[in-house]
Amino acid sequence: MNIKIQDLKILPNFLCNRIKNVPFILAHSLTYKCNLKCKICEFYKKNNKNELKLDEIFKMLDDAKKMGMVYYIITGGEPLLNDNLAEIVEYAKKLGFRTSIITNGILLKDRIKEIRKFIDVITVSIDGPNHIHNKIRNSNIAFKKAIEGLIEAKKNGIKVKIASTICKININYIKQIAGLAKKNSVPVIFQPMLGYSKHLKKIELNNFELIKYVKEVYWLKKNKYPVINSSYALLSILNHKPFYKCYFPNHTISIDPEGNVIECLNSTNLNIKYMSFRDIFKSEIYKKFLKKSKSCKHFCRLNCATEFNGIYTFKYSELLHFLIS
Ligand code: SF4
Ligand code: SF4
Repeated sequence: MNIKIQDLKILPNFLCNRIKNVPFILAHSLTYKCNLKCKICEFYKKNNKNELKLDEIFKMLDDAKKMGMVYYIITGGEPLLNDNLAEIVEYAKKLGFRTSIITNGILLKDRIKEIRKFIDVITVSIDGPNHIHNKIRNSNIAFKKAIEGLIEAKKNGIKVKIASTICKININYIKQIAGLAKKNSVPVIFQPMLGYSKHLKKIELNNFELIKYVKEVYWLKKNKYPVINSSYALLSILNHKPFYKCYFPNHTISIDPEGNVIECLNSTNLNIKYMSFRDIFKSEIYKKFLKKSKSCKHFCRLNCATEFNGIYTFKYSELLHFLIS
């Protein structure tokens, strides 16, 4: 187990925000742009015209810091396509955020030196062994680049993990993915593909496959594979209903590339370009989101909800998982 002192530093802020009922995680989709066109995704098709500018991102980070947020997670599209990424993570790090990016790894080896001092965690998406990953990612080089990037990030002393989205194409390769993580001595977190969009329905898991997925991931976790999905979240899926209400909007505020707050998977018209976080949290739209999530019938099974819900409700194992992964 590898907990650093700097990881523990975020705990007081977490507790403070928990008491104030303000999110402690800022998840920022930096861009819709991507250098891949994966079968599991539609982000790369979106328009990129009005993405937040650098000064607007800095302002958002200042404001988030003022609100006591501690964890800045950058997603995409592909964040490494943003030329200003190093400046953004340096700025966030200087403000005291724990910083993290989620990447397809294509540019990781080339850009790691620019960002290594300011990044705490890098999550590389890997969805199967070579031929399966490349099939899902629609690319002949995706697997090779992802592995090279992962190794390079590790060499640079950064915490690295694998995130793997499981759909119909790779449902029979879960053990191989966990084996790949074990071989490279990195943790892996699995995510079932469900409810992403109606256009992707044909490759999403059905209920039967979902149960197969959970049982296998749970078994691997119990059998010394470095699986970091929490048992708590996995069992909540297996039992077909959450043990808990969804606390997603309590613990995480999610921002799209244009600055709009995302409610579950949809953008709202609350925008950080025109509103402070304080005003966003006071708005009727956000209050309704908080209320709605407590009786959400959809239960999306997204890790961002299931894993962090456990942290929010003080489940010891989830907190530990948050700190070590
Ligand atoms: S790498 Fe990520 S953002 Fe890019 S197309 Fe694939 S899933 Fe979508
Ligand atoms: S469980 Fe429901 S409220 Fe929570 S993030 Fe998923 S869809 Fe949204």
